[in-house]
Amino acid sequence: MKADPAAQIRLLDLQALDSQADQLRHQRGHLPEEAEIRDLAGKRGDVDGRLRDQQIVVDDLAATQAKADADVEQVKARRKRDQDRMDAGLVTNPKDLERMQHELATLERRISALEDEELEVMEQVEEAQSALTELTSARADLDARLGELTAARDEKAASLDKQLAELVGGRDAIVGDLPADLLALYEKLRASKGGVAVSELRARQCGGCQLSLDPSELAAIRATADDDVVRHEECQRILVRTAESGL
Ligand SMILES: [Zn+2]
Repeated sequence: MKADPAAQIRLLDLQALDSQADQLRHQRGHLPEEAEIRDLAGKRGDVDGRLRDQQIVVDDLAATQAKADADVEQVKARRKRDQDRMDAGLVTNPKDLERMQHELATLERRISALEDEELEVMEQVEEAQSALTELTSARADLDARLGELTAARDEKAASLDKQLAELVGGRDAIVGDLPADLLALYEKLRASKGGVAVSELRARQCGGCQLSLDPSELAAIRATADDDVVRHEECQRILVRTAESGL
């Protein structure tokens, strides 16, 4: 293949720019915040699940507490009704009186037992509520940290995107200067050679595979016309000759 030596030098510029863009794309795909965001999002999901379970516990206990309160009130109302009837002198028969007093004593014990239960449930409600508050606050902390990380990641991503867009702009200008066949070879080699299609022959070394060229290879290159596109036999990459090539 033939290509003007100036176009060959220009191809080195394209390679430098593409390598830089590859590096930026790699950074863009491996932002350090991403791993932490994934980790924290997992933790948040866990906390959120526990929070929902805990909310159910709190709601159930609140219902139990309401029932305990109602039970106490109901028995107290009955005690008052009985007491009022006795106070009003409505119970006169000694046998009825005795039965009534016996009932009042039973109601008293029942109220005391129900109030104990009520207290116990209240304690449980408090504990459950405090666990719920802790989980809510843990989730809020995770959300805050996730918000910070996401903002930091987005900022970095935007900055890398901007740099990439600038490189793409520069690339278009270089591509316009290159012959189509040379560009096609370059793209094909870039795809098969880990992104590096062309390198400068510098101090008798191929910058693509880092191997030094032996004297016979150098002699063959020296004998090649300036507008011939030279390939490194070893790695098949395009070698561009410059004043630094050591030929
Ligand atoms: Zn090479």
